[in-house]
Amino acid sequence: MERTLSIVKPDGVKKGLIGEVIRRFENAGLRITALKMLKLTKDQAKGFYIVHKDRPFYESLTDFMSEGPIVVMVVEGENAISKVREIMGATNPREAAPGTIRAEFASDIERNIVHGSDSPESASFEIGYFFSSIEIMD
Ligand code: UDP
Ligand code: MG
Repeated sequence: MERTLSIVKPDGVKKGLIGEVIRRFENAGLRITALKMLKLTKDQAKGFYIVHKDRPFYESLTDFMSEGPIVVMVVEGENAISKVREIMGATNPREAAPGTIRAEFASDIERNIVHGSDSPESASFEIGYFFSSIEIMD
C-alpha cells in the first residue's frame, strides 16, 4: 500500500470538478483516507512548491495556487503515486493522454486542475504539509 497527496487546484474547484476528481480515484480502486478544503496564503503555496523555487513559473504558479479554495486529500492504494499521476495526465494538457483529467478539463500548463505527488519522498513531504497522522485514516 502506498500513499500520495492530491489536490483539486483552485481552477478545479471553480469548475465544479471536486467530485469528478474523487470519483476517478475511487473508480480506479484507490481510497481517500484524508480530505479537507482550505485556501492557501501566497507563502503557504510557496512552501508547498519549494522544489520549484528557481523555476520561471514559480511566482505565477504560487499566485494561482493561492487565488481560491483548494481540496487536499490523501489517496491510498497499490501504486497510488503512479496511478494518480496516470489518472491526472501530463502536466501540459496538450500532451496529456486522452481521457485523463488534464486532457479533458485543464485550460493550460499552469491551470491544470489537479496535483499528485511524483515520488515517495515528495508524497511524504506533501502529506505532512497538510495533514497530521491523526487526520489520516488507517
Ligand atoms: N507549471 C507551470 N508551467 C510549467 C510547468 C509547470 O505553470 O512550465 C505548473 C503546473 O500547475 C504544474 C505545477 O507547476 O502542475 C508543478 O509543476 P510540475 O512540473 O511538478 O508538474 P506536475 O507534477 O504537477 O505534473
Ligand atoms: Mg510535480
